[in-house]
Amino acid sequence: MSKDCIFCKIVNKEIDADKVYEDSNILAFKDLNPVAPVHILFIPKKHVCCVSNINKDNSGIVSDVFYAISKVAKDLGLDNKGYRIINNCGEDGGQTVMHLHFHLIGGKRLGWPGVE
Ligand code: 5GP
Ligand code: ZN
Repeated sequence: MSKDCIFCKIVNKEIDADKVYEDSNILAFKDLNPVAPVHILFIPKKHVCCVSNINKDNSGIVSDVFYAISKVAKDLGLDNKGYRIINNCGEDGGQTVMHLHFHLIGGKRLGWPGVE
């Protein structure tokens, strides 16, 4: 738990979220500002700021997240046509919420994001 972290507050039910998946380590909920018909955020319940803070001790959350993404994508029928997983890391990566999260985006044919 990190004080003032929005996603920790969602984990602790201090802020509402439209949840789509939960297990002992992972929570998934709909993004507040979806960029596609399906836009879901997957987060570890334990606060880790970003990919830069993944280490040998906590890297299991990454496989837990990807297991959850794969399951939810199948449940939503996305696996047939595909989808995209995005992680923004740090300032240059465009990360705005400093609690590790992976975006699952799909439900339409996606363009490739600019790198300008
Ligand atoms: P980032 O830019 O850090 O990769 O993504 C943060 C995402 O969190 C954004 O897509 C934003 O719309 C979403 N977001 C920010 N605050 C909230 C919130 O309180 N609830 C939900 N469901 N999504 C949020
Ligand atoms: Zn947090």
